[in-house]
Amino acid sequence: MKLRLPVCKLCRKQQVKLFLKGERCKTKCPLDQEKKKTRSFSKKFKFRKSSEYGFQLKEKKKVQVFYGVTERELQRYFEAAGKKKGIIGEELLLFLERRLDNVIYGLRIVPSRRMARQIINHGDIFVNDRRTNRPSYQVKMNDVIFLKCKSKFYSKLKEMAEKGKKDERLTWLEFSPEKLSAKIIRLPARSDVTVPVNEGLLMDFYSK
Ligand code: SF4
Repeated sequence: MKLRLPVCKLCRKQQVKLFLKGERCKTKCPLDQEKKKTRSFSKKFKFRKSSEYGFQLKEKKKVQVFYGVTERELQRYFEAAGKKKGIIGEELLLFLERRLDNVIYGLRIVPSRRMARQIINHGDIFVNDRRTNRPSYQVKMNDVIFLKCKSKFYSKLKEMAEKGKKDERLTWLEFSPEKLSAKIIRLPARSDVTVPVNEGLLMDFYSK
């Protein structure tokens, strides 16, 4: 998904931090600064009343921007989620969580999902010894993911991996910062999803 608006504007529109700029989001987020400046931050953004459809649309857009997926991809995940036995909304989020770009970002070796997609598209990521250049690849149990040693990003990512905080990484992976490789030790659950989303609204949007 191409982000056409300046990314901070996308967060502002959603009134929520979507962490699209990596480290900068922790230290120089304009939303944090605005919150500090005015206590009436939330009131400031509440003046526009939205219809039920507006809320649903906003929730869908939030998920789309957070994971960086297109409308078509989201629609496809919704259809696939409908074929699963679980709750459709949850299944849809889990499809998004299991995307390879989300996993690479979740290792905290890149500052954003956008950067993760760039590395994957470059063909530097291997899954089970096979080059995988599809950011939408769905990881499976026991998959082993690693970065090609000759990658031009290698030293930079290694440095990030060593600096990265363990407690910020996805907990359903076993990550080795020395080898820059990760193994899927369990599949994600709803509690692993970090985007603040009401999947009920998302479902209402697609069920029409
Ligand atoms: Fe910008 Fe990141 Fe803050 Fe969003 S979370 S407004 S992308 S700095």
